[in-house]
Amino acid sequence: DGALREAAALVREVPDFPEPGVLFRDIGPMLASGPALGAVVSALGRSAEFDVVAGVEARGFLVGAAVAQAFGTGVIGLRKPGKLPAVADRIDYALEYGTAALELPADTLRAGQRVLVVDDVLATGGTLGAACSLVRQSGAEVAAAAVVLELTALRGRRNLPGEPVEALLQV
Ligand code: 5GP
Repeated sequence: DGALREAAALVREVPDFPEPGVLFRDIGPMLASGPALGAVVSALGRSAEFDVVAGVEARGFLVGAAVAQAFGTGVIGLRKPGKLPAVADRIDYALEYGTAALELPADTLRAGQRVLVVDDVLATGGTLGAACSLVRQSGAEVAAAAVVLELTALRGRRNLPGEPVEALLQV
């Protein structure tokens, strides 16, 4: 729709970040615009029926909290290691170079809850896949794995077979 197209125009392309040869998509200017953030939030919230939002550190926190508030649910932050005072579960996953991990905070998710997993960008799919696994390991259900922007050339969906991936924008 028109509002989302206008929002998409605010995504900035940054060559050679965070390393040479990578074209980074910066959604900062999009989130800084009230109308663009509003369009993104309402579209993401319509991805599925959900009881709670789980945002992936760090830009998934910004978008996820806004979606939760707009749709009347709570929000959970899936965090990088070393940040949480009480950890319910952890999942380690492979990156192109090296490994990463996400942690679920204690006393947040309940078994059977329908969770909208939110992140800003789907690249290779490692992060979103780990977030979905973490949610499911707790006995909750992934209602949708929703991202603002999918980088289709990296074929992240191939690494997420069976996951209910919803992308608002694709490049
Ligand atoms: P993946 O695990 O899918 O390869 O990478 C996705 C994670 O890296 C997301 O959490 C996302 O924030 C970050 N990421 C990777 N590439 C980009 C990019 O071009 N722009 C932004 N904003 N984030 C990216």
